[in-house]
Amino acid sequence: MPLEIRDVRFVVITGGVISGIGKGTITSSLAYILRERKYKVDIVKIDPYINYDAGTMNPYQHGEVFVLSDGTEADLDLGNYERFLSRNLKSGNNLTTGKVYRWVIEKERRGDFLGSTVQIIPHVTDEIKRRIRAIGMEDNSDLVLIEVGGVVGDIESMPFLEALRQMRLEEDGKIFFIHVTYVPTLRSVGEPKTKPTQHSVKELRSIGIQPDAIIARSEIELDSDLKEKIALFTQVDEKAVISIPDVGDIFTMPLLLNDTVLPNYILDRLGLKSNESSMDFWRGVVANIKNPSQHVTIGVVGKYVQIKDSYISNEHAFMHVTGKTGIGVKLKWINSEKEDQIEDLLADVDGVLIPWGYGPRGTEGKIRAIKYARENKIPLLGICFGFQLTVIEFARNVLGLAGANSSELNPETKYPVIDLLPEQVGLTEKGGTMRLGDINVKIKKGTKAYELYGKEEIRERHRHRYEVNPKYIDEIESKGMHFSATDESGTRMEILELEDHPFFVGSQFHAEFISRPEKPSVLHEALVRAASKYNKLRRKNFIEQEKFAK
Ligand code: GLN
Repeated sequence: MPLEIRDVRFVVITGGVISGIGKGTITSSLAYILRERKYKVDIVKIDPYINYDAGTMNPYQHGEVFVLSDGTEADLDLGNYERFLSRNLKSGNNLTTGKVYRWVIEKERRGDFLGSTVQIIPHVTDEIKRRIRAIGMEDNSDLVLIEVGGVVGDIESMPFLEALRQMRLEEDGKIFFIHVTYVPTLRSVGEPKTKPTQHSVKELRSIGIQPDAIIARSEIELDSDLKEKIALFTQVDEKAVISIPDVGDIFTMPLLLNDTVLPNYILDRLGLKSNESSMDFWRGVVANIKNPSQHVTIGVVGKYVQIKDSYISNEHAFMHVTGKTGIGVKLKWINSEKEDQIEDLLADVDGVLIPWGYGPRGTEGKIRAIKYARENKIPLLGICFGFQLTVIEFARNVLGLAGANSSELNPETKYPVIDLLPEQVGLTEKGGTMRLGDINVKIKKGTKAYELYGKEEIRERHRHRYEVNPKYIDEIESKGMHFSATDESGTRMEILELEDHPFFVGSQFHAEFISRPEKPSVLHEALVRAASKYNKLRRKNFIEQEKFAK
């Protein structure tokens, strides 16, 4: 049967007034809602910075770097999209100024422009349009949502907005523009102010884009007078001025947006049927997140704990677990640089997560946390860097290899239990030799990992350079730390687990990256279940002690 070629439609989401008002959340939520209405949805995130991708960006500025299945290092919004769409995205779903200019310059070098002067309009804008359309066509999507990063008026986003303006003419009736703005309420005045929104829409119109809908983010719900006022000043249908007051968490947004007229309004304007959707699954997830049947506290020991979104994929993975199991997870953020306080800070947790990381700062604190969890039999999950540090701690304190380390952290160490493999040496230029993306992992039967995953082959996402040094594996295993999964060749260790400990597991891969509401990360779920047991045990001990005291 010939493949039905779908007629792709586009929904553009721009931002106004200030950044950080949840444009990404709105885009992901809309994607979920439209998917629930049986449309095949794709997303393009436009990041107007000059970097080629987010790979080399500092988490202090940008939060976590998300990795796609094809190994692309991308903005963390891509992670939200994947989780809400429940599918893998690829490099083309993330457009940056760096990528677009690189493609245009490569074409120029090849002589594709036949000697003409290469300009932003039409050459750069043509490339942008071509890439956006290609995404819709490659995946045969019904709808492509395009989120433009930053705020309208930023100089960097101009070529992208110009390309989208041109698409409005070329895709007549098949493209819809949403402008997400902020309507602030000054405490001294007490009422929401629409003026910044008016200005921001004016700015958008001055570059030729008339929005079709406005989503007004605000502290308090806007009444109909205010919506009418915004509609009047911005020439947007009053129905399509949507007020979204602060919601608290990202998981509520799909329900909130679905209750507005916006989804039907968009579909109608694009000539598509509304299609019924129950949102029942999502409602169940949100109900569990809002009213968990019990609680556990997981201590997250990391260097970037004060920086919002540094561990966002882990946060979401735990939310997915709560959505599925009804066990609420409170994350206790523990700064690993507070080395001397680690044990005290861990005294009230039911489980420990040691997440990703790079470089020596704060690592000794993490190693102390690992020792504490190992010795006190507190459930622990170490991910990537966390996995490597559990090996280091074990080598130092169980094998007695004083000063054991990763050659990333101390190139002079006598016992480099974490090291580059011989074939990697000499290839260590920054960004060059990272092991990235989805790779097959083989699990050994009869292990805890096999018990959890229930199969011998899984595919998981990676982002790391260093490996467990094969020279030390036998010695480590002989003392009770087992490598229960490896890569296909058997040379790279992927999962470890400890004997005689209720739950002490590490994974070289980032289990958090492929966690989805529909399919929570197996390892995060296992940690939470172990933490729940630990918590009950502690309560029981406490009650018994109280009884005894009486
Ligand atoms: N720094 C370690 C490595 O490069 C771990 C990386 C990570 O945690 N993503 O191997």
